[in-house]
Formats: sequence, structure tokens, C-alpha cells
Amino acid sequence: MPTYNDYGIILNSYDLGESDRILNIYTKENGLVRAVVKGARKTLSKFSGKVDQLSCCYFHFASGKNLDTVCDCEQVNSFSLLRSNLICLTSAVLFLEIVSNFAHEDEHDSHHIYDLLYVSLNRLQISPNPDLESISFISKFLSLHGYKPQFETCVSCAAKTDLKPALSGSYPYSSILGGILCSNCSGTINSKSVNSQTLNILLNAGRDIPIEQLYNKQSLNNQNKNIRSVLELLREHLDVRAKNKIKSFDLVFSL
Ligand SMILES: [Zn+2]
Repeated sequence: MPTYNDYGIILNSYDLGESDRILNIYTKENGLVRAVVKGARKTLSKFSGKVDQLSCCYFHFASGKNLDTVCDCEQVNSFSLLRSNLICLTSAVLFLEIVSNFAHEDEHDSHHIYDLLYVSLNRLQISPNPDLESISFISKFLSLHGYKPQFETCVSCAAKTDLKPALSGSYPYSSILGGILCSNCSGTINSKSVNSQTLNILLNAGRDIPIEQLYNKQSLNNQNKNIRSVLELLREHLDVRAKNKIKSFDLVFSL
């Protein structure tokens, strides 16, 4: 049976039979891998504590016809700080669900998504604002998939928009098409009004600048409502494009 090694983060898992567990793992080189861990639920299993959701491991796999097998694994990061903070943990589970929804087996270029997920989970552990960290993760994730919300030109007719997010005002935004509309198109296509502060947060999220440098504590408190509006907007954007609706948003918004 051919074998291979890869880094991976466990997206979710479910029980199989008496004591086995099936893992859905997002790996660095092979994209989504579905693999069984034999005896994972036995008390004295060598996998105990290593194959939980969110755990990052270096795996040794054996390829199978329908399902690969985890022969061994070494834990690289358990993200223990995330597990001790309910708000951060909820955001982390949101990241995993989003990756799971867009993931495929044998993806080439999966290392971009893997690296983004790993770095974002690490940053989330010490973030002053998990919602902003989620916005940053989702924006970069959408960019990697070519689904980034469009601002510079009208998402319908490609005319240049008069976007000036530094000024006050609002812009017509179409969640279905995924971007802002020019004044001509906004009359004929369903849209909602997005204020410039909300757009600013979204534009900042795509840049690789730490949250602490973009916002001080006071401005973060003032922006809470707008930050939630951006998350709502990204939720609609993802739901149109994902295989299934992203359920973890309900929990994020309930906290
Ligand atoms: Zn237009």
C-alpha cells in the first residue's frame, strides 16, 4: 500500500464502528484528505488527544481505495489558547467550516490555503478582536479562490465606480454579484446600502497589516457595529458561493 506524509489541520471528524474515527483533514500538499484512524476512541490509543478537531499534525498516511488510513501522526500545534476561549474557539470553528466547504481532494496549490489557515488560527489565539481576524481570514480566503468582493469597478457593467471610502456616504452593494454597483446599475439590480466605514474595514482586511496598527482600542469599540456589518456582508457573499450554508456564523453572531 503506497504511503505519504503531509502536514494537515483537522477540519472535523466523525465516529466509525466501535472505536474508529474518520477525519477530514486539510493538508498542505494534497488539499482535502479523508482518512480513518483505527482505534482512535480506545482509552489507550496512541492517537489520544492528537486527532481532535483543530489539531495540526504531521501525518503518515497509507493510501486506500476509498479512504486513506492514518498510520501515525505527530502533533505540531494543538492551538491550546483557542480551546480555552469560547469566542476565539467559535471563530476558529468558523474558519474550519469555511475551508471545509470549498475544499477538494487533490487540489494543487493547497499550500496557500493551508498556510493562510495555519497563520490565521495562530493570530486568532492572541487577537484583540476575533471578528476582525475573521474578516481578515475570509477576505484573504476569498481572494485565493478568486471570489473577492469587487469595489474598483461596477460588479455588473465594469464601469469605474466613484468609490471614496475615506469620505462619508454609502454605496449600493449586490451580495449576489459580490460587489458595489454604479449609479446606473443600482436602479435595475437588487442591492443594499453599505456605508463607507463598513467598506473601509473590508478594504483594510485585505491588507497585511496587524489589527493593532490599524485601530486603537477606542476606535475598535466605536467600530463594533460596522465590524458586525462586514461579517454579515461576508456571510451573504460566502453563502452564495459555498457548497452549503456556513452554519457557524449563527454561533458567532449569538456571542
Ligand atoms: Zn454598472
